[in-house]
Amino acid sequence: MDCSDLIIDSIGLQDVVLQSFKTDKSTLTCELWVQQKKDTCVCESCGFSLKNVKDYRIRKLKAPPLGAYKEVIVHYRRLRAVCDMCSGQLRMSPMKGVHPQFSNMTLAMAEVAGLLMEELTCEATSRYFRTNSKTMWDLDQWRMRHMKKFYKLPDDLNVSHMSADEVHFRTIVNTQRNSPFSERWTTQYITSLVCSKLSKVIATAGGRDAMALANCLKTLSKKTRDQIIYFALDMNAGYFRAVSKLCPNAEIAVDRFHLVQNLNETFNTLRKDEFRLAKKRNDSFQAGMLEGGRRFILMERNPNLSIEEQNLLGKLKMLNTNINAGMLIVDYFHKVLDEKTLPNFRKSLAQWYYLVRESGIKVFKQFAQKIRKYRLNIQAYIKSNLTTAISEGINNKIKVLKRMGYGYSNQESFELKILQRCGLLNSSHIDTTGWHWHIPHPQ
Ligand SMILES: [Zn+2]
Repeated sequence: MDCSDLIIDSIGLQDVVLQSFKTDKSTLTCELWVQQKKDTCVCESCGFSLKNVKDYRIRKLKAPPLGAYKEVIVHYRRLRAVCDMCSGQLRMSPMKGVHPQFSNMTLAMAEVAGLLMEELTCEATSRYFRTNSKTMWDLDQWRMRHMKKFYKLPDDLNVSHMSADEVHFRTIVNTQRNSPFSERWTTQYITSLVCSKLSKVIATAGGRDAMALANCLKTLSKKTRDQIIYFALDMNAGYFRAVSKLCPNAEIAVDRFHLVQNLNETFNTLRKDEFRLAKKRNDSFQAGMLEGGRRFILMERNPNLSIEEQNLLGKLKMLNTNINAGMLIVDYFHKVLDEKTLPNFRKSLAQWYYLVRESGIKVFKQFAQKIRKYRLNIQAYIKSNLTTAISEGINNKIKVLKRMGYGYSNQESFELKILQRCGLLNSSHIDTTGWHWHIPHPQ
């Protein structure tokens, strides 16, 4: 093999000859001049070979880096000839290896950048390739959409344990409000369906109601859905309906992550109430301890607190019985969830109910009612041995990618990105090796 063939191959082109090149080490740029091979040129409209060459038209293309040369520019000489079949019209030959949508880059360039964008932001990728970040963003979108056409769940997917969760997508401020009572803003969510054994998001859909989860579940076949044994959800009635309808064999478990989230929110409500009361009393110590910024001192489960913080907390607990009781209830609830067997769990839970009743704190009583309602589902969680690591991990990952994109305004692109980063819509699951030279189309 000729070395120039190697270069042609590595930049993703075909049926061209390398004529010359120029390199500049100070800017790490490399320019290549290539020309289409005459004998392989065909008319782009009728497909007959082109013989009567008139001239060559120059196109400038961006190619992937060649080793140390970060920026590679290709001057592509495209053949133009008179086509006898097209009644003597001037015709050009199609360029093999140029991207169909992004006509100023070679396929290899698009694929190398696309692979990088599976891991990095479009901004970072565009800096690396010295290109425009909008182009990189468009390329990433195009590639994800095209890959979606080849998206298929693995045949041996273990779906015994699944979970679903809502992900905050965006909050829109309502500018046109008809009355002072109409909503100030609208919050939009996306539902993600997670295969716990694989720890990947396998489907997404807009909304956070029964319909949204049903749409996710319908991407699975009836046979696959019947294989689901445990389904971890948060306390969302819509999700419960969708799962009971579509997954008849699944036992619904409320997972710990969501229970604790709910518990912390409840405690936070108590804190805010007590904070307001302390302010009213002009009690600066309590108000200071209970303000939002100090929330973490109160919420810390295994106190990693300094001695000073511990002392302050001790004083607060002495002064404020509600906060003291609230913290006890929170702590005890963790213990209930730590139970490994059902009889122990039931015993501990009964004791926890007792604690809540005795405390007389309204918000916790309401929370206990919710727990009572979902008792069987919490039991299912204890039985299923599901850990929270997966839903927590995926939720964090989605939050990070939302920050990295500085928020998303387009639902489709957000959903695709979730599938790409936290699911199977990427080159580890869809083979794109050949995409460096040829873009396939689904059958
Ligand atoms: Zn023709």
